Amino acid sequence: MEYNPFDNVLHIVENAATLLGYQPSDYIMLKYPERELKVALPVKMDDGSIKVFEGFRVQHSTSRGPAKGGIRYHQQVNMDEVKALAAWMTFKCAVVNIPFGGGKGGIVVDPSTLSKGELCRLTRRFTAMIYPIIGPDKDIPAPDVGTNTEVMGWIMDTYSMFQGHSVPGVVTGKPLAIGGALGRADATGRGVMLNTQFILKKLGIKKENVTVAVQGMGNVGGAYAKLMAKEGYKIVAVSDVSGAIYCPQGLNIPEILEHVKTGFLSDYNAPGITRLSNEELLTLDVTVLAPAALENQINETNADQIKAKIIVEGANGPTTVAADNILNQKGVVVVPDILANAGGVIVSYFEWVQNIQSVSWNEEEVNEKLKNIMHKAFCDVWNLSQEKQESLRTAAYLIAVKRVVEAKKIRGVFP
Ligand code: NAD
Repeated sequence: MEYNPFDNVLHIVENAATLLGYQPSDYIMLKYPERELKVALPVKMDDGSIKVFEGFRVQHSTSRGPAKGGIRYHQQVNMDEVKALAAWMTFKCAVVNIPFGGGKGGIVVDPSTLSKGELCRLTRRFTAMIYPIIGPDKDIPAPDVGTNTEVMGWIMDTYSMFQGHSVPGVVTGKPLAIGGALGRADATGRGVMLNTQFILKKLGIKKENVTVAVQGMGNVGGAYAKLMAKEGYKIVAVSDVSGAIYCPQGLNIPEILEHVKTGFLSDYNAPGITRLSNEELLTLDVTVLAPAALENQINETNADQIKAKIIVEGANGPTTVAADNILNQKGVVVVPDILANAGGVIVSYFEWVQNIQSVSWNEEEVNEKLKNIMHKAFCDVWNLSQEKQESLRTAAYLIAVKRVVEAKKIRGVFP
């Protein structure tokens, strides 16, 4: 059967709603994104030809606040993926209790095949096409796979041109010079690191006994590896789309990050490293595995071979429902995506708060506030999972679904 990430989300929500004792009419609305927009994006290419790209923006829920979620540029983006990513955002914002709903967008494109000018024109056209439904009070995009601060800057500028004045709060993850937040670039990775530290402490595992493997060296995986290495954890394996590298004595993360700024891991060389496939990285015997690339990486074909004691999900949806069941049976502790990678949206929230108030916080302040929110959310999830004897994922969804349903009930059904 073909993997459909949105079905994955619905299954988890259904399970949580049943455990919460809800009737279908209490939560049926969560199964339907509020708005789905599909757009065609003609772009003048550098050679003078016109190419048309397909784009999407989905608002899953605005019950708890404006829709919030990233924009993905990837050749495999499709509506079901964007719907799933939007729904994960709803539950992510709810579990960490920030006043946002969930949204997500994407364009079917491999950004590495476009020139900077083409990428800019594509982004500006996309912004124009989703313009009617985005805005600081409506729906606030951010970076995701294949997008970065520069792309967010183009979105902010295009939206502002239509409005006739600067609107920094329309997008987060912007460059610092136009209202970006200090600490945002590393925020998702920092949140994944904090969750790793919290779970290691709960399980009584000491830093000197920890080995870590990271899948993906982008916004999330790169920052996570950097911060973990800086904290003194031994990173033994990392990967990107070109493959994985492994060194049981620990990798030189700063050197690797410098290399992947312009190249791929397949061209990186250092004494003592072994090359592995991405599949091999996932099944290494390590303390912590942090998948930080794409969905559906740990599935029923490899879940029973996972040897990591702990999985901290940097990516959204890296583990399928079937794999989750296998991992639970094996006793692998999984810190779920909606909690583990919420650092990005928490600091996006801080960015938005600063933008709409025209204030700016220093980096220490941002990191401290992030840690406080993360710690509270982690403890809420941990305590509930202990109390109910459920997995951390189920506990996280029990909290998140309850908060969204409560907001929906209070607001009522219009008209
Ligand atoms: P990115 O584009 O910056 O990096 C993705 C990385 O994954 C790259 O290193 C790429 O080479 C690698 N990759 C791609 N396919 C791979 C494969 N098959 N095997 C191994 N590596 C592969 O993306 P990102 O922003 O770091 O996002 C990664 C994940 O984290 C996504 O699931 C995203 O939704 C999620 N996420 C991102 C943020 C954020 O702030 N950027 C926040 C929360 C969650």
